Amino acid sequence: MILAVSTLKNPSSPADGYRGRFAPSPTGPLHAGSLVTALGSWLDARKNGGKWLLRMEDLDTPRCVPGADHQIRAQLLACGLAWDEGLTYQSQRQEHYQSALERLNALKLLYPCTCSRQAIANTLASLGIETPRNQEMLYPGTCRPHPLEINSPELLRTSKVAWRLALPQNCHIEFEDLALGHQDQNLNTEVGDFVLRRNDGIFTYQLAVVVDDALQGITHIVRGADLLSNTARQIHLQKVLGYHTPQYLHLPLVLDEHGEKLSKQTLATQINTQDEKHSLAELSNAAQHLGLKYLPDGESITIAEWLLAATRAWR
Ligand code: GLU
Ligand code: ZN
Repeated sequence: MILAVSTLKNPSSPADGYRGRFAPSPTGPLHAGSLVTALGSWLDARKNGGKWLLRMEDLDTPRCVPGADHQIRAQLLACGLAWDEGLTYQSQRQEHYQSALERLNALKLLYPCTCSRQAIANTLASLGIETPRNQEMLYPGTCRPHPLEINSPELLRTSKVAWRLALPQNCHIEFEDLALGHQDQNLNTEVGDFVLRRNDGIFTYQLAVVVDDALQGITHIVRGADLLSNTARQIHLQKVLGYHTPQYLHLPLVLDEHGEKLSKQTLATQINTQDEKHSLAELSNAAQHLGLKYLPDGESITIAEWLLAATRAWR
């Protein structure tokens, strides 16, 4: 038998230069807001001579729409936004998330939680802590054991409980966003011990995104500002898992006439990529939102020419 020698580089030391990604959740086709993220991340990668990867974040299966991944791929290609390397699906990468969970367990950083949302809300109310509208509830640590212990691997795989990451005291995270500047968050007072696997067995976005960005050697994360408040959690997870922290750049959100973020929930309409002319019009809108100026328009330009001009104009 021939033993294969792994030539994989250490995933936490991205030595290959810029690697970016677009990581849509296939809950519907691209709309004006998601095109802005796709275009912004693509332009940043191209401007830096880097790679741009496409990853379908399809872990939350109840929210995923069958066929949406195909629509997204076709829309991106119709806009000339081709990706490098193979397309990945988070649903096919579960063993990576499980092994990260097992590592955290071995570090005594995990504990099971059986609190319902209502129970958490009641505890917070009794502590006089109010949750602003549209914000997630702080977790008050109800189920956290003292001291923390290693859970049986069996329990970790099978039980119908949520698994939370135990934060250290004074877990204050600071980072520089390439667009928004200095950011900081106190995870203890603003978030609390957060969930890595839900009680329905689904790995959370926080865990999966951190594991994938690290294993794919992502150096730059360009995404919508609605995800800004997740970044401190992700940086903390990168630290405990021994991963490199990428650069972050959060793009301005596209809001609807009510000031709400465009999303499937707000019934955002999908972009029209039926032909080159329509695709170019969608790209122009997205570029305008990104603050790109003096881009060519008109009948005679091709998408490839337009993208080249947009790459030059990208800051
Ligand atoms: N899948 C996430 C979303 O569609 C984006 C993840 C990320 O860019 O970190 O909102
Ligand atoms: Zn609990």
